Amino acid sequence: MRIAFDNSYAKLPSRMFTAMPPTPVDTPTLIAANADLAALLGVDIDSPEAASIFAGNTVPDGAAPLAQVYAGHQFGNWNPQLGDGRAIMLGEVVGTDGIRRDIQLKGSGPTPYSRQGDGRAWLGPVLREYIVSEAMHALGVPTTRALAAVTTGEPVYREDVFPGAIITRVAQSHIRVGTFQYFAARGDVEALQALTDHVIARHYPDAAGPADLLDQVIARYAALIARWMSLGFIHGVMNTDNVSIAGETIDYGPCAFMDVFHPQTVFSAIDQFGRYAYMNQPGIGAWNMAQFATALIPLMSDREEAITTFTEAVHRFPDMHEAEWLKRFGAKLGLAAPSAKDVSLINDLLDLMARDGADFTHTFAQLGSEKARDQFLDRDAFDVWHLRWQRRDPDTALMAQANPQIIPRNHRVEAMITAGREGDYAPFHALLRAVTQPYAALTDDTAKYARAPTDDERVQRTFCGT
Ligand code: AMP
Ligand code: MG
Repeated sequence: MRIAFDNSYAKLPSRMFTAMPPTPVDTPTLIAANADLAALLGVDIDSPEAASIFAGNTVPDGAAPLAQVYAGHQFGNWNPQLGDGRAIMLGEVVGTDGIRRDIQLKGSGPTPYSRQGDGRAWLGPVLREYIVSEAMHALGVPTTRALAAVTTGEPVYREDVFPGAIITRVAQSHIRVGTFQYFAARGDVEALQALTDHVIARHYPDAAGPADLLDQVIARYAALIARWMSLGFIHGVMNTDNVSIAGETIDYGPCAFMDVFHPQTVFSAIDQFGRYAYMNQPGIGAWNMAQFATALIPLMSDREEAITTFTEAVHRFPDMHEAEWLKRFGAKLGLAAPSAKDVSLINDLLDLMARDGADFTHTFAQLGSEKARDQFLDRDAFDVWHLRWQRRDPDTALMAQANPQIIPRNHRVEAMITAGREGDYAPFHALLRAVTQPYAALTDDTAKYARAPTDDERVQRTFCGT
């Protein structure tokens, strides 16, 4: 297979990564490949070599396989040494849209950054990332994407023995806040400068320098988190090593979409204190941007002045997020130009939803119909709110574009994984078809994917993909 690799990260100073190939596996078997994304990248997924390439057994010509090094704050605690412990980037490709992207295998074997890990992934997290990242893309959220998934024919040992798998992930880049932190913490200003120049050229070409870069990353990240909020999405591990500098959602571990709305919802089994609860995400976003700002300080000639400027930039994050949040939730209510007055209209609905345990997705999808009322116990309170809202003359076409019918519901994702473990991928393909048309009118085939879980089906906890 010929892939037109055009690698730029591999040309950066060699201490910024470890050049190495993926570790071959026993029996590569293709489960899924993404035809649209493959066409964008010029990758021939019908090639007889496809499974072997996506498993890491064949390194295609022109690839420059490497594992990136980074650091990060995990649940607020500094970890000076992280990196691609179970991933290998094959290289970069400029798509037919002119955008440069990384092609990375995740679950591809140990690297110098694996610590105690085996460098592998099991089928569950691979299928979950495939479904959720492609759903996010279809929902209009900037995200890494899934190009392919393979099984390895090898067992992976976790709390049980699971089938091993590898996902091929595509991202505008895999550079994280933690990548900057790694070099800043070592006082390696030369590498920090090279990384900054690379990121500006690649993702923010009109940024004049680190201060401008910071402003633009903050703007993108604030907009990204507002999109998560507007869909009831909880990332679950907003560690600084999981914050993409390109402003994409990255690292689908214990992430989840809420069914019943409650602002303090947490799914991740390891998030004991709810640091990454739904409602905390904007605040954590600002905290993560403060860490990014700190990592850029060594590049500035006047440290005191930089601290002042960067602090102001980080303090703009909450207002930027609020403006994006208002835009997104305004659209959900059919308001093309929401004003500050609409903030209470939105929040009053969310308060009623939280009090009565309304389903987040259904409530918004059904707002224009009689059905929304059924989500509420206190119907009188909802009727009062509804009247207030109607006076704002909502645009139903705008609402249809902002309120998905279908999100990857946790119980569907888990059922799909259970079937996959038994070698039945039909539920995976059916769920993928449904979640990649989230705004389409429901059909007989897709209606079941819109349905909320019953009490028995409801998933309370999600787990990391390690
Ligand atoms: P994550 O949970 O994806 O944010 O991962 C945190 C860190 O642990 C990263 O440096 C990963 O590369 C590493 N890691 C996670 N799982 C494994 C694994 N199975 N083998 C080796 N490294 C891993
Ligand atoms: Mg990670």
